[in-house]
Amino acid sequence: AAVLGLESSCDETAAAVLRADGTILAEAVLSQLEEHAAFGGVVPEIAARAHLDHLPRLAARVMAEAGLGFADLAGIAATSGPGLIGGLIVGASFGKGLAIAHGLPFVAVNHLEAHALTATLPGLVEGGARFPYLLLLLSGGHCQCVAVEGVGHFRRLGTTLDDAVGEAFDKAAKLLGLPWPGGPALERLAATGDAARIRLPRPLLGRAGCDFSFSGLKTAVAHAVARHPPGALPEADRADLAAGFQASVAAVMADRARHALDMLPAATALVVAGGVAANGAVRTALAGAARERGLPMVAPPIRLCTDNAVMVAWAGIERLRRGLTDPLGHAPRPRWPLDQLTA
Ligand code: ATP
Ligand code: MG
Ligand code: FE
Repeated sequence: AAVLGLESSCDETAAAVLRADGTILAEAVLSQLEEHAAFGGVVPEIAARAHLDHLPRLAARVMAEAGLGFADLAGIAATSGPGLIGGLIVGASFGKGLAIAHGLPFVAVNHLEAHALTATLPGLVEGGARFPYLLLLLSGGHCQCVAVEGVGHFRRLGTTLDDAVGEAFDKAAKLLGLPWPGGPALERLAATGDAARIRLPRPLLGRAGCDFSFSGLKTAVAHAVARHPPGALPEADRADLAAGFQASVAAVMADRARHALDMLPAATALVVAGGVAANGAVRTALAGAARERGLPMVAPPIRLCTDNAVMVAWAGIERLRRGLTDPLGHAPRPRWPLDQLTA
């Protein structure tokens, strides 16, 4: 048996078919970068319409690629929150429609649980990560340290007091005149800069707990930029600011991860997920923090760190295996914290 997963919570439209043992039979992701780039960020209404345009075709494509008919499926899993409500309604309604049409169980997947469970995909790491592990969810919308104790069993240990880390990358990049989405562009610019020349703050470093804060760091970049007339920031300063910003984030991440590992002594691994997990400096810093504890750092391949439907199908499989399905009346939830999941 296999499961069809659907993702539409933000600006990625995605579909994937996984066999119950976790084998990926087919996957497809469409990023709506062009649709939103002119606006410098995701426009919810545009995103919802794009999901509506693309999702049925993507679903048909992955089913064909997997060589399966709906009769071969054990269920349909669709992201049902948290995220932008328009896209969630599109994806969840489409998934429910397929479930009704083909008499299949429906699983309303929590997007954060899907990110969190990606590390347990067999084949990703030797045998998959084992519970409990520490998850650092580092994305455009979230920045959390989470104790992952099992399917549906999560404890949030810390979160951001202001911006998510990806959001901070995007804002700093914008201040430096880089195009959206800023994270990857900032990383490329940082590679040409000197991280030590312009010292930027490292918010909450050394503080108890594992919360995050990025607004002070972003403001420091803004002040550094504002010292020059508009558009006249010297090229070397731009690169050095990018490098300094990235170094601050990486240092803060490692520090927060150490504190989080102290709060979860039973952790078997440090798992990173979310788009910012693609950042080389952040990865290196976190790998160092894990190594100090003799733990492996598990970072899924980048395509499975950013939004995708493989993780949604996999969360669906883990839930179906435990008999956890959802009624067709399940309403999508724009806010849906991990500690409010059923298990
Ligand atoms: P969420 O999953 O929380 O709903 P999202 O869909 O915006 O939010 P992702 O798609 O996982 O999150 O990640 C996108 C974020 O990751 C953006 O903020 C982007 O700038 C950032 N990002 C991507 N690549 C890099 C990189 N190499 N370095 C730093 N940040 C990056
Ligand atoms: Mg995205
Ligand atoms: Fe995500």
